[in-house]
Amino acid sequence: MEHFESDYTEKTINYWSALKLAVSALEKQIAKTPDYEGDGYSDGQLVYDTWICPNCGNNYEVGYDDDDYCPKCGQHIQHLINQLD
Ligand SMILES: [Zn+2]
Repeated sequence: MEHFESDYTEKTINYWSALKLAVSALEKQIAKTPDYEGDGYSDGQLVYDTWICPNCGNNYEVGYDDDDYCPKCGQHIQHLINQLD
């Protein structure tokens, strides 16, 4: 019985880690809007020059690194701002 129980536990852990992996892969396919940061004003409007991946938190430059997928983690990104004025 002891052997059966440890075998069962191992399979359960494998199942959950596989499921977790599948869910996280699926979530990356759903486009998310990144956070934007700006450090300057133009005509009284804050100019956003940085977007932050909502999944891994990596920073990228607006207007230069506007990939549809995060280069670091593969998160699908829905950009709201695509270029600097
Ligand atoms: Zn990322």
